[in-house]
Order: sequence, then C-alpha cells, then structure tokens
Amino acid sequence: MSLAPKSLRALKDVRMLEITWSDGSVFRLPFKLVRVECPCAQCIHEITGERMIQPDSVPEDIHPIELGYSGNYALKVVWSDGHGSGIFTWERLHGLCSHIAAVKVSPA
Ligand SMILES: [Zn+2]
Repeated sequence: MSLAPKSLRALKDVRMLEITWSDGSVFRLPFKLVRVECPCAQCIHEITGERMIQPDSVPEDIHPIELGYSGNYALKVVWSDGHGSGIFTWERLHGLCSHIAAVKVSPA
C-alpha cells in the first residue's frame, strides 16, 4: 500500500489541513497541531529529540501560505509565521492523524 495522500487541502475557514489518503479515509488536522509538530532541526533538537518550539508561542491564527510536495515522500509547508523548513513525511502525517486533536471526516 502506498502511504501517499491522494489529496491535501488547506481549509482556511476551519484552520485545518485536510488529507485524503489512498485508502479513502479523510482526516483533518488543525494547522496549529501540524505547526507545533514540525520536525525540523529548529523545532526538534536533532540529537536529543527535545521539542524546542513552545506551543504557546505559535499564534492561534497560524496557517500555511504555501503547501508543496518534497519529492514523493513528504509535504513541505511554509507557515504564516515565516517558518518554512519543516518537511512532513507521509509517515509523520499518518502519525498525526491518530492525534487526539485530529478529526476523522470519513472512514476508509
Ligand atoms: Zn520547524
């Protein structure tokens, strides 16, 4: 099975990233959750794995200003706070879909 999403949409009115997976399941992830879970070296310490970004420092109205694919394995996001070094692999996005703040819109 391919892990890649079938489609990705930024829903600005509800501030969520909607992901349709290849198995037909649809999840919505709050922008803020995705931003806080940014796996880049500025947000997560490369050696200790410690989270260096403070969730409280992320504005409530955070939103992506640019969504793009990185190769065929990950999503690249440029955020409204200017942060743009995060690469979210499909595996990581799958993991976020089981987060308590994720909303399952449609089952597989
Ligand atoms: Zn980051």
